[in-house]
Amino acid sequence: MRYDLDGVAASLSKGEVIARGAGMWAWREMLPVTQTGNVVSLGEVATPLVPLPRLGARHGAAAPVAKDEGRLPTGSFKARGLGMAVSMARELGITRIAMPTNGNAGAALAAYGAAAGMETYVFCPEDTPEVNVREIALQGAKVWRVNGLIGDCGKIVGEGKEHMGWFDMSTLKEPYRIEGKKTMGLELLAQLGWEVPDVIFYPTGGGTGLIGMWKAFAELEAMGWIGSERPRMVAVQASGCAPMVRAWEKGERTAEPWKDAHTVAAGIRVPGAVGDFLILDAVRESGGFAIAVDDADIMAMRDRVATEDGLLLCPEGAATAAAWEQSLAEGRIAKDDRCILFNCATGLKYPMPPAERALDRHKPIDWDDIAAG
Ligand SMILES: *Cc1c(COP(=O)(O)O)cnc(C)c1O
Repeated sequence: MRYDLDGVAASLSKGEVIARGAGMWAWREMLPVTQTGNVVSLGEVATPLVPLPRLGARHGAAAPVAKDEGRLPTGSFKARGLGMAVSMARELGITRIAMPTNGNAGAALAAYGAAAGMETYVFCPEDTPEVNVREIALQGAKVWRVNGLIGDCGKIVGEGKEHMGWFDMSTLKEPYRIEGKKTMGLELLAQLGWEVPDVIFYPTGGGTGLIGMWKAFAELEAMGWIGSERPRMVAVQASGCAPMVRAWEKGERTAEPWKDAHTVAAGIRVPGAVGDFLILDAVRESGGFAIAVDDADIMAMRDRVATEDGLLLCPEGAATAAAWEQSLAEGRIAKDDRCILFNCATGLKYPMPPAERALDRHKPIDWDDIAAG
């Protein structure tokens, strides 16, 4: 998507966008939907910036700040991309849509598809978290578990196009999801008073958000709202599925598909990304890097941030915090760097460790026991 950015800059001021109030639709001049009546909205909010002071203090570093995308409709930042894609599908007269998903994208597609009155078909790997499959079904989509990975599901969507007459909403197979994800970058800079942070840690699967934010910064510069300064973009992946990290370390522009992909962070279990070169270009141009973290560190970080800083991250969000810690230890970032961690979904959608203490109210209570926990 290209816009008349000189025209936008001439007719719109920073103050005006802010005065419109929260949410991605405040940026409408920089978005593809032309008729307001085509906007499909479920109440998108501007997501808050939540500092993690205890995590920072543990390392004598400035507190990293989580952008908590879990507050969006359907509990993940997929709402930005799919809200935009479904709105554009409506504008273009499309009524039947399909996509492969690891969970959250399908949930957002189902919800916005239902709101738009569309027929929605979703295909997910058989080990997709139960909560995701059920929320997809409950929000009006037809959903299938497939005995394969996300790429196998994508093949089914591609093959069915002719027979089913559906539109393929896969990552980067249509141009509008990225425009929705772009609003993360616009919103972030507005929240920071138009000052770019030093580093952005982004949990990278298909990379739509990273690519989208990179585009957002270029558009803001073209409008004269920011200068040429950019945050360092860090692509965070899991050690069990790290195609971007391997390509980045080898200095390659595209990434070989990852074999036997596995990680607890299902949202970033993407063995091959269509936009691999766009991700790697943005990471390089920004002076950033790609980094892999182990599942054990991801889960330990989720526990620690929840108990010490009070924010329940999703595993993908916890991966960014673990990557921040690892980068600090390896001297790849500085202690006083202003770092943003993307928590891309609410932690409430993921399995949590059991809590099994029980109390018999008919017996005398041992208060020392209670105090000991
Ligand atoms: C989709 C998803 C990601 C990856 O986002 P991309 O922009 O596609 O790379 C990360 N975390 C969660 C929770 C997701 O649902």
